[in-house]
Amino acid sequence: MTEKINLMSLSPKELGEFFVSIGEKSFRSQQVLRWIYQFGVTEFDEMTNINKDLRAKLKEMCTISAPEIVSEQVASDGTTKWALDIGDGQLVETVLIPEPDRNTLCISTQVGCPVKCSFCRTGAQGFNRNLTVNEIIGQVFRAATRVGFSQNQEQKPISNVVMMGMGEPLLNLENVIKVTELLLSDYSFALSKRRVTISTSGVANVLNSIAGKLDVALALSLHAPNDEIRNELVPINKKFPIAKVMESVRNYIDKSNANCGRVTIEYVLLDHVNDSVENAHELVKLLRTIPCKINLIPFNEHECSDYKKPSNTRIDKFYKVLFDAGFTVIKRTTRGDEISAACGQLAGQVKDKLARKKIEAKVNQG
Ligand code: SAH
Ligand code: SF4
Repeated sequence: MTEKINLMSLSPKELGEFFVSIGEKSFRSQQVLRWIYQFGVTEFDEMTNINKDLRAKLKEMCTISAPEIVSEQVASDGTTKWALDIGDGQLVETVLIPEPDRNTLCISTQVGCPVKCSFCRTGAQGFNRNLTVNEIIGQVFRAATRVGFSQNQEQKPISNVVMMGMGEPLLNLENVIKVTELLLSDYSFALSKRRVTISTSGVANVLNSIAGKLDVALALSLHAPNDEIRNELVPINKKFPIAKVMESVRNYIDKSNANCGRVTIEYVLLDHVNDSVENAHELVKLLRTIPCKINLIPFNEHECSDYKKPSNTRIDKFYKVLFDAGFTVIKRTTRGDEISAACGQLAGQVKDKLARKKIEAKVNQG
């Protein structure tokens, strides 16, 4: 028997091609996408606008499935972290950040990360593998099973998706493109391109290759005002130094509608590493000609790192230099720290079978 095709592994275009390949009109893909991603329906029998014969055929040839949630942790501020079972004893994490006017889902794109930033818990795990389309869009689908599917409503239960979980999205480009198509398509999640964000450590060549083709909001994880410090924090900087990265960011933004002409710069503040007033002045100089808004993220401490979060006084002084220079600058408040759901705290991967059994037992107990 040939293996069944999982329709949740296909991009909108691939789904259309699939229907054509079985002698159907490609618009069937729009109907199926709607059922899955707007109504959360995974049983062909419930797809009432598809005739019985075709439903029977689809049942024989296809499945619709996503990785299962095996644990859920809810922080006091409502931030929720889910772990999904992706087989081989590995888990991938996704985080929902509820705010009064939106629900942002932070999704992972890789198991571990090959960039290995010195301060990041995901990087400390090393790199295991890229997540598949199914495993990435499955995070959004599973979150929607908890907070609700859009069912064609204007107000979408998951309103924003940011690729800021585990992994470097631009190093899993093929799958990230397909997932983005599913997030943006009117027939699936139908998110506006301004509400889908790719966060990157600065893979300049890949960014150049997608400029003008893949249009979503862009966040650059800069974290340093010069190459000397950045080489230490973000090792990929040795390959693509700041000048090259900035050139690729500018090129991307110039060709983008989603960014309204400016990039988000992320800057993790590490005590006495990149957080001095001099560093702030240097950053002002570096960013003077780049239209941007700056997110300052006080370091979230974790057991894989000796870096420390700066004092509030140091954070405020750093902030003030940028603010006084006229930048839009936001101090990111930490969400979900107590459940290790904050930026850079995702680990997810549980190779140890015993640890996984314990998690499963906990979930089963409710
Ligand atoms: N790989 C991508 C996206 C995932 S990381 C990237 O690096 O942009 C998402 C954000 O969390 C990045 O800006 C990253 O630098 C930041 N981050 C990682 N570890 C952190 C930590 N321990 N504390 C605060 N922010 C962290
Ligand atoms: Fe990878 Fe981003 Fe973590 Fe760096 S910060 S190791 S790029 S996930």
